[in-house]
Amino acid sequence: MAKTETILELQHVYKYFDDFTALDDINFTLDQGKFYSFLGPSGSGKTTILRTVSGLILADKGKVLFDGQDITNLPAEKRKVNTVFQNYALFPHLNVFDNVAFGLRLKKMAKSEIDDRVVAVLKVIQMDGYENRMISELSGGQQQRVAIARAIVNEPRLLLLDESLSALDQKLRQQMQYELRSLQQRLGITFLFVTHDQEEALAMSDEILVMNDGKIQQSGTPVDIYDEPINHFVANFIGASN
Ligand code: ADP
Repeated sequence: MAKTETILELQHVYKYFDDFTALDDINFTLDQGKFYSFLGPSGSGKTTILRTVSGLILADKGKVLFDGQDITNLPAEKRKVNTVFQNYALFPHLNVFDNVAFGLRLKKMAKSEIDDRVVAVLKVIQMDGYENRMISELSGGQQQRVAIARAIVNEPRLLLLDESLSALDQKLRQQMQYELRSLQQRLGITFLFVTHDQEEALAMSDEILVMNDGKIQQSGTPVDIYDEPINHFVANFIGASN
C-alpha cells in the first residue's frame, strides 16, 4: 500500500480574541487525499481553525505545518490552500467563466492558460456549456459548483469548505454531499469540511474531528465516532436518529 503523507499539521495552536480563548491547544494531522470534517456546534471554533489554516488570521501560539514546512506566519496568498465560503462569495454581475477566471487573472496568468484551466475545471464540475450564464441565473447547487470550481482552478493541495452546503435545501444538500465526496475522490486532494450537521459528517468523511469550546474532543472514522460518541453533541444526534 502507498505510504500516506501528512499534508497539514497543527501543533499546540491557540487563538485569542481579547481575553476569549477561541482555539485552546489544537493538535491534529491530516493525510494527503482524504476527506475530513470538523463537526461541532456553533461557536465551537471550527471556522477559526479554517481561517488559521488559510492564513486569513494567524495563530497566537503554536505551529501550522504544511508539507512539513512551517507556514504559521505565511500570508494567505502564499499558501497552497483555497476556501469555499458559506455564502460562496461569487460575483453576481459576472458570468460563470469570469467568476472562475477571476483569481487567475489577478495572478496575471497567460490568457491561453486561463482558458485551458477554466474549461477543464468546468468539465470536472459538469458545468461546461454554462460559461456565459450570469451567476444570478443559476440554481443554488450550480452556484455551489461554481464556487468549488473557482477554488480548485488554483490547483490547491488542500480545499477548505466552510458550511458550504448549509444554504441548500434538504434534497439538494444530499445530492451535493454525494457530488462533493466523488469530486474529492476524483481530484485526490485533501478536503477539510466544516459542518454542524452530524449526519453530513458521518456520511461524507474519511475522518471526523469533533469540536467543542475551542478544543478537539474526539477524532476518528465515522464508525469510531458512531460507536463511541463521547461528545454529547454527537450522542444526542445518534440517540435522536435511533
Ligand atoms: P464555529 O465556526 O464553530 O461556529 P467560530 O470559529 O466562528 O465558531 O467562533 C468561535 C468563537 O470565537 C465564537 O465564540 C466567536 O464568537 C468567536 N470569534 C470568532 N471570530 C471572532 C472575532 N473576529 N472576534 C471576536 N470573537 C470571535
